[in-house]
Amino acid sequence: MFGSNSPIAIAAYQVLRFLNPSESYCLVYLMGGMVFAVAVMLWRRRGRRTLKPEPMLRLLGSRKLWLHDSTKLDLKLYLFHGVLIMVAYGLFQGSSELWRTGAGSLLSAALGPSPQIAAPRLLVGAVTTLGQVLALEFGYWVLHYAFHKVPALWELHKVHHSAEVMTPLTEWRQHPIEFVAFGNVLTLATGGAYGVFAWLFGPGTQPFTLFQVNILLVLHFATFHHLRHSGVWIAARGWLGRLVHSPAHHQIHHSTDPRHFDSNLGYALSVWDWAFGTLVIPERRARVKLGVEGEPPYRGLLDTLVRPMAAGARTLIPRST
Ligand SMILES: [Zn+2]
Ligand SMILES: [Zn+2]
Repeated sequence: MFGSNSPIAIAAYQVLRFLNPSESYCLVYLMGGMVFAVAVMLWRRRGRRTLKPEPMLRLLGSRKLWLHDSTKLDLKLYLFHGVLIMVAYGLFQGSSELWRTGAGSLLSAALGPSPQIAAPRLLVGAVTTLGQVLALEFGYWVLHYAFHKVPALWELHKVHHSAEVMTPLTEWRQHPIEFVAFGNVLTLATGGAYGVFAWLFGPGTQPFTLFQVNILLVLHFATFHHLRHSGVWIAARGWLGRLVHSPAHHQIHHSTDPRHFDSNLGYALSVWDWAFGTLVIPERRARVKLGVEGEPPYRGLLDTLVRPMAAGARTLIPRST
């Protein structure tokens, strides 16, 4: 009863992960998002006498938002994934270490032993840290593109896009197959990139980390990561909009406007969207309608899990002429 998969252990994990800074959903990062939103609001209204909160920031305290059927489904999926992380997802999750060793072994087999390039430790650390993030972004972009363009995968990804209102809980609004797929891309990309740089520079190679997480990702989590699912419109524009996937970039990604379909597929950066032509730079001020037009709302957890798989399977059956 008190094993790692016991109800008590699962409940404890649900609470403790809010306090774990190596998890993106840590309370400190959620609060960091609020602080970031308020700081941007103050910056925009500098010099003005009255300080009315942004409409979307006011919405964060709205009953209409938190009691919306869409938010209730987000909460159910949050709890559902929280339990499955403990009892099942480990079976399908490759570890970052495994991919690191694999990449190193592959390079040694193909190109010979490590050249052990001599470079200052600081430079090696910086290159590895940035390289890991660029690899993660690339893997995320490719998988996200596939989830939009392959009809069977889109049926699964629709679950995420069907959110009609967004709170940070919407991050968890994913079909389990998608949840596992993106988790594996994260470990593959960060572990694989680490392995490549360790082969190039030698075994002492280390990315800069905080709480055992790449420091650039920690910076992202602690600032605007959770605002991507919030309705708070903070737009990176100009050259910054080509580098950074701001909250407004992601809200455009969720838009029902056909001009926005299949755009802004990045995670923290928009560099690969820029490179592959899927970038839509957000307007300074705008409001987008969220959701998937023509898709009836999911009627609870079971419907959310089963309907996408049935619809996805139907796309795989060849149509008779
Ligand atoms: Zn998407
Ligand atoms: Zn989203």
